[in-house]
Amino acid sequence: MFGQFRDSILRVDPVYFCANYLTIDSKPLNLEGTGYKPFADIYRYIGLKAIEHDAKPVVLVKGRQVGATTMAAALECYFTACGLFGTHERAPMRLMHLFPTLSLAAAYTKDKLDVIIGQSKPVPGTMKGNGLPKSYMETKLDSSNPSNNNMHFKKFMFGNQVWIESTGLDGNRIRGRSIDGAFYDEIQDMGDIAIGTTNKALTQSNYGAKGDGVQVYFGTPKTRGGSYWNMWQNSSQNYYHLRCEKCGKYFPLYHPSIRWEDVWIYGLTVKCPDCGHEQDKLEAQERGKWIPLNNPDTSDYVGYHINQLYIPSFTRETIEKAKPERSAINTERLYMNEVLGEFYDGEGGTITSAEIRDKCVEKGRKMLKFIHPELGKRTYAGFDWGQRGALEQMAGRGRKGSYSCAVILTSDGNLFNVEFATRLLRPDPETKMSTVEEMFRRYNMTLAVGDIGDAYDLTHKLQRIYDERFLASRSSHKVNGHVKYSNDEWPKTIVFEKDYYISEILGLLKDGRIKFPGGSYDRIDWLIEHCASMDIKVTRDKSGEPLKKFVKGSGANDGLMALLNAYIAWKFDVTQGFTIANPLHMKYDIAKNIRSEQAVVGYVPQLFRGGK
Ligand SMILES: [Zn+2]
Repeated sequence: MFGQFRDSILRVDPVYFCANYLTIDSKPLNLEGTGYKPFADIYRYIGLKAIEHDAKPVVLVKGRQVGATTMAAALECYFTACGLFGTHERAPMRLMHLFPTLSLAAAYTKDKLDVIIGQSKPVPGTMKGNGLPKSYMETKLDSSNPSNNNMHFKKFMFGNQVWIESTGLDGNRIRGRSIDGAFYDEIQDMGDIAIGTTNKALTQSNYGAKGDGVQVYFGTPKTRGGSYWNMWQNSSQNYYHLRCEKCGKYFPLYHPSIRWEDVWIYGLTVKCPDCGHEQDKLEAQERGKWIPLNNPDTSDYVGYHINQLYIPSFTRETIEKAKPERSAINTERLYMNEVLGEFYDGEGGTITSAEIRDKCVEKGRKMLKFIHPELGKRTYAGFDWGQRGALEQMAGRGRKGSYSCAVILTSDGNLFNVEFATRLLRPDPETKMSTVEEMFRRYNMTLAVGDIGDAYDLTHKLQRIYDERFLASRSSHKVNGHVKYSNDEWPKTIVFEKDYYISEILGLLKDGRIKFPGGSYDRIDWLIEHCASMDIKVTRDKSGEPLKKFVKGSGANDGLMALLNAYIAWKFDVTQGFTIANPLHMKYDIAKNIRSEQAVVGYVPQLFRGGK
């Protein structure tokens, strides 16, 4: 009896709750292990402090892999099943975990939340259909109605509940709901309007500040500016400080005012900047605390900065290897954003999904199912052939890998319209073939272009069927005049200069000249993510001169490649196979504009300007 009583008291502590009820990779989610104190402190702050009536919103600026999504899932379990909410005349906790897109929300439920619920501590004496005991979290689910447990909603006993939702373009999906707490995940990809609309759902909240509820914002920073950056600027900006074993002083491991390499000298050894004492990093981490850079009383948000330097299993060498000059794949931006958790503006050539949403998404316009021939529209399709199907992704196998995508594009005066876009569910040749056939049937196709890289046989077949209405494309490092087409080659292939054309299409996006159908936002949000997933990698040529080139960012970019192929199809058409050089002879307005504005809008990548 006493044991049970003690447990119910301790269960109020989120860190105790996680260690005793939840498992991750079949080990208890134990944050009291050496080195985890920075993380445990944040769990406790959100679990205990953020729900008080004088609380402020919390903003977490973080690198990747620091476990923030796991933290959100664990806290959702804590709030809904620790026994503190919805009991003893306390109101239940109604939470919403929000992502920028519905597909991210669905992937979270499958990969994280359902897993942590299913793998929480088994409860002896209970049994599921498969004969195994129920997990602790499963016993807390409200099973009175099957609709209480689905991809976007989990209802627990005593009225506690979690929605897993998308803020989408404008937060419209959330309108009219009433919640107590909102966890904004991947906040760097959300817009102000979407966040503002969503926060209205908190006005009647029973926890957190009156009218504002519990708000937790977390993400991996991209560029400066935008709502995430502003939140961080207006926050207390807590940085974690280690405590010296010898002199007892606190010192930061990572802070805007220091070089972390001077503190973390090798392996798992840090050196106190005050007395020079060398000591175990994880023990110093365990002795440490969060110290704000800004005055918390005058800050609008409680801010925490956490990056990969605090991951207990990482050594100094792990971080060193991730530096762009040491890593084959990491760009400067990726290192700054994902390893150090810093906002970074070093590259003008790429675009963020927030920028695309602001400049390129057309409200209300929906994707078209058909384009009728009598409209007389010239229609272009672009295909990118990858090895994976979207079904695999839906089955929760991560965001990486290359997909097969199709984009339908039309031009309208000065602008391009994305009329339709899709990811193929399966990567097999039959699905690819039938997708092309369907696009030709539905869209009164002028010209389609598909990459030939992984699709030699398919391209052969398609060109036999459609002749010069289906052309292959292949990227090359350098092409005289940036593009070439020769029709003696078989299959007939457009060879384009990769960096030049990527720069051109990103320039069009930056100028808001490619429009996405915002009325079908949930079906094209993936394409926006793909368009934002480009990075710039600086390498050195033989003489040591820096060379900048575009590389794939942290997510998939096949949709951008399909869009690029559609754009190349358009360009091929208006220049009659790249034979018209004089813009005055061009058939369509936009072609003239592009030619004449090239210098102004900066389609020429920095690569070609030489130097730094
Ligand atoms: Zn010291």
